[in-house]
Amino acid sequence: MHKVTLIPGDGIGPEITQVVIEVFDKLKAPISWEMVDAGAKAIKKYGTPLPEVVLESIKRNKVALKGPITTPVGEGFRSVNVTLREKLNLYANLRPVKSLPGINNKFEKIDLVIIRENTECLYKGIEYSIDESTSCAVRVITRAASEKIAKYAFDYARRHDRKKVTAVHKANIQKLTDGLFLQSIRNISNNYPEVEYEEKIVDNMSMQLVLNPEKYDVIVCPNLYGDILSDLAAGLIGGLGLAPGANIGDEIAVFEAVHGSAPDIAGKGIANPIALLRSSVMLLEYLEEYQLAKKLEFAIEKAVEDKNILTPDLKGKGTTESLKNKIISMLDL
Ligand code: ATP
Ligand code: MG
Repeated sequence: MHKVTLIPGDGIGPEITQVVIEVFDKLKAPISWEMVDAGAKAIKKYGTPLPEVVLESIKRNKVALKGPITTPVGEGFRSVNVTLREKLNLYANLRPVKSLPGINNKFEKIDLVIIRENTECLYKGIEYSIDESTSCAVRVITRAASEKIAKYAFDYARRHDRKKVTAVHKANIQKLTDGLFLQSIRNISNNYPEVEYEEKIVDNMSMQLVLNPEKYDVIVCPNLYGDILSDLAAGLIGGLGLAPGANIGDEIAVFEAVHGSAPDIAGKGIANPIALLRSSVMLLEYLEEYQLAKKLEFAIEKAVEDKNILTPDLKGKGTTESLKNKIISMLDL
């Protein structure tokens, strides 16, 4: 049995984590969940969105599945997602973007992975006001974190037999910060002669991804560019409802969907659970439960062939429930 921390989260979080619980039950996955609250529920209960019990549970179990947690814009608490990544030193954010058959027929062959630096850049949250009408933000890039993410990206390429790593930057403008990022990635790339290496400026990368996403394999980027490009890439395969992710550290991993808490559709029973289910496939792989991971991945691919049961974000008339039931019915094929 693997003990795994489960954080249902805010908005659609409880609805989609419930789907994972039921699907894992049907899969007979050897996992026991340790449920803890973070986000809005935790504020009510403990006065903080990220209580110590949550961090303790993840540190003890080393693996967690996390629903989305709301970050209020402009004021209030610092993002739980960002704090968690920082406190547990989850330095790599891994976001595979893979087409599902028949979902977006403009792009049927996308199979890329965005590897986003997860601890610094503008996410340090260092901001100050000079006066009432001027504010500044400090963007931090270090050689240590950049080399670490570069090494992770190239090791990932090697391990998964991926052919090319593309580094994304804006070093023509941010000469010191992105310059250091780029130089660090270049240094590390020399140790992997079998992996092709290229560099793209982030604006051009955005266009290239929209025009020719099939050309990309592993993409490594600083934190903010990674955030933006992964939503863009999610759009190419049919939306945020399909895009999984993982936050990886040396000893701890937290799996979560790329999307947020989607308050606009919370409680309506129409949230797409696939992004979190695909994150759970990654979790199973991380736990070396490869057969179960394959089974679930296959069931998702088969289920989406039935257009009637798809959730509205995939232009279907179905619900979270109908999609879940279809996926469960495909587990035994
Ligand atoms: P955050 O700041 O937490 O990243 P966000 O403002 O980027 O949040 P999301 O919660 O990611 O917003 O949602 C963006 C849009 O995508 C919303 O319209 C939402 O309804 C939709 N969406 C996100 N996730 C899903 C999902 N699993 N199923 C269906 N629609 C979704
Ligand atoms: Mg977002």
